Formats: sequence, C-alpha cells, structure tokens
Amino acid sequence: MFVLPENVRHIIETLEAAGHEAFIVGGCVRDVIRGVKPKDWDITTSALPPQVKGLFPRTFDTGIAHGTVSVLAGNGECCEVTTYRVDGAYLDNRRPSEVTFAGEITEDLSRRDFTINAIAYSPTRGLADPFGGREDIKKGVIRCVGDAEKRFGEDALRMLRAVRFAAVLGFRVDETDLLEAFNLRHSLANISAERVREELVKLLCGENIGALKLLESTGLMHFVLQKRDYPANLLDKTILQIKALNENADEKMRLALFLSWTGDDCKRILRDLRFDNNGIKIISMYVENLFAPLPQSRYEIKKYLKEISAEHFVKLLELKNVIGLETNPAPEIQKIREEVADILEKKECFTLRELAVNGDDLAAVGIPQGKEMGAALEKLLDAVMHDPSLNTAERLLPMLMC
Ligand code: ATP
Ligand code: MG
Repeated sequence: MFVLPENVRHIIETLEAAGHEAFIVGGCVRDVIRGVKPKDWDITTSALPPQVKGLFPRTFDTGIAHGTVSVLAGNGECCEVTTYRVDGAYLDNRRPSEVTFAGEITEDLSRRDFTINAIAYSPTRGLADPFGGREDIKKGVIRCVGDAEKRFGEDALRMLRAVRFAAVLGFRVDETDLLEAFNLRHSLANISAERVREELVKLLCGENIGALKLLESTGLMHFVLQKRDYPANLLDKTILQIKALNENADEKMRLALFLSWTGDDCKRILRDLRFDNNGIKIISMYVENLFAPLPQSRYEIKKYLKEISAEHFVKLLELKNVIGLETNPAPEIQKIREEVADILEKKECFTLRELAVNGDDLAAVGIPQGKEMGAALEKLLDAVMHDPSLNTAERLLPMLMC
C-alpha cells in the first residue's frame, strides 16, 4: 500500500543507514491510507538537525527552531525532515514557547492534533499508529489525540483545523471534541488572524462545504470573523451557493460568496483577516458587484471588461449565476458569456492600450499633457467601445476637433 517516491525512500534509507529512525508522518500517511495522492511528504526522525544536515549534500534551515530541515533531492524536490519533538509549555492557547526533542516516535505522534494525523510509517519498521488513527480514517472521524479540552487549550487553532479537515476530507468531528470546541470557542481570539485566515481559506476550498455549519454551531464563526456575527439563517443559502460553484472556482470567488452579505464592511473584515491588498481588492470587488444589475448592452459589458478585466468579469458572472438563479436567469448569463467571448475573439478595444491612438499622437495634434489629455483619451476610448469601427487614427483624431 505504501509506495514512497524515490527521493523520500532515499532520505529514509540514508537516515536509517546512519543508525537513526525515520518515518513518513502526518498528512501524507493519512492521504495514502485514504487512497489519495499526498500533496507533500513529511519525514520525522530521531536524528537531530545537525545530524540530518550532515547526511545530505543539499539542505536548508527552513524551521530549524522547530527541528525542521528541508532536504533537497536530486530531482529538485524538497522534503521536510523534522526531529521527533514534544512541545514545551503553551502560553495563551498558542503555539509552544519552546520545543524539546523527543527520543521516540510515539512521543512525537502524541503532540500531533488529530488521530488521523498522528500515524507514521517506515518501510523497515512498518506503521506506528498508537492512537487508532487508521480506525478513525475508516470511520471518517476527526478526533483529538488525547483529551480535547487539553489539546484545544494548548492551541486554539486546532478547533478550526478540526472543522477544516471535516470540510476537506468529508469527515465528521467527534461529538465530545465539538462540545469542547464550543466551550473553548473564545480562545480562538488568541490566535493570530493570519493563521485563522489560512484555515478559513482551506476550509472554503473543501469539497464538504457543509462543514461551515460546524463553525456556527460551535460559535467559532464569531471569532473567525474577528468578532462579528454571520447573519442569522444565511449560512444554509451560502453553502448551497458555494456548492453550486464550478469545482475549479478559486478561493477569492469562494470568499466572495462567504462574505456576500458584508457590503461596506467587506474590506474591513478582509483587512482584519490580514488578506493581502490584491486579495482585498478582488474579493471586495466581487462582493460589491454581486447584486448589481447585469450589463444590458455590449457597451456595458465592455465597461466591465475595462474596469475589472475579462478574467474577473467571467468569474463575476459565475458568482452571479450561483447567487440568483431566479433574478439573473442562467440563459441571460450565458448570453453575456458568449458576448464576452465574441468581444475577445474579435479583439474589440476596451482599454487604452488597444486604442489606435496614444498620448504621443494627441500631443502631435496639440493636446496638452495631463488632465486634458487623459480626458481626451477616455473620450475616444468610450467612442470606440460603442463603435469598434472607429478604432483607427484617421477616424479618431478628427473627433478631437469637435
Ligand atoms: P494538508 O494536507 O492540508 O497539508 P496536513 O495534515 O499535512 O494537511 P499541516 O497543517 O500541513 O496538515 O500539518 C502537518 C502535520 O503537522 C499534521 O498532519 C499534524 O500531524 C501536525 N500539526 C499541524 N498543525 C498542528 C497543530 N496546530 N497542533 C498539532 N499538530 C499539528
Ligand atoms: Mg501538509
């Protein structure tokens, strides 16, 4: 069942040949057991970081403070190798203040969040599964390693991770763990907004988006939204809308549906969640336009293409399609999609870049630089957006005279 990539096998064998223990661990083991191709392969070892570095020609200190060394394989792929560790004291429900290396694989597995993530495998030593992770994968349950109250108390982000894994894996969260998450929901406020955002984004990209309900039932939603409430009774509708999206819909589109109700507050929420400026701009643009009427003419479509680009307009149409099948009937959206394709195919002009004249041409006929020139170019562009046949210098320049 466990077919390891060549470079992963090589790293494990090299560590073992030097007298250390080494296992693949965490998400990759879980995914192999589920029959899913792992995204990346993490290795855990009894070797200390300097020993790991001594065994491989090309390594980076990615997280040396946490005992993690990245080993670069011949094919350029990177694999993280982390020394067995137990976490030190937890402060304020956040990550440990210090890290201590452990002597045994079981100790390392016991610091991990969920049983399904606390399984290790080595080609020579076989499986290490001291907490029944395989059984929980079979049952489709997310369950803390050990006592949920203690584990959520140590790191409040784990509550959100539980819901994230429920969304991504389609598993349920153990009832006791859910109850503890409800009891400890306030401590999510101690977690940095960046870490909350990362989990929220992964959650929204999960196939089992119905897991969003768990955020509401545990009360975690209020803290995910940085102390705001999701409007009552709206979440079911949001879930249906996100489900109706194309499966390749990107995270910004999903966030726009999740935040469709925020209006003017959208930017503030995204900023509080430490999204980058580009993310804030695009997501809030989707939200602002979500309920606006559909463009009624080819010209109005070009206005959108000019303002937000063709790529984003096509995505906005997809969002409009899923939010209001009653108000914006799908055939109408389909017609607009076809018109966009036609505009692009015919290379009709809707940006200054594609206009047949530029600033130099206008300067040559005596239009002064600055505001006046900007206004003149916009006027010509607007005319061309109405009538593409105007887009030649011969036809445009005379228009400036009147
Ligand atoms: P994904 O496929 O989404 O990357 P993953 O299981 O690899 O899932 P990561 O967030 O990459 O998840 O974490 C890697 C492993 O580290 C987890 O499988 C888990 O064993 C451990 N881990 C990560 N975060 C925590 C945490 N907050 N508390 C305890 N263990 C954690
Ligand atoms: Mg991972």
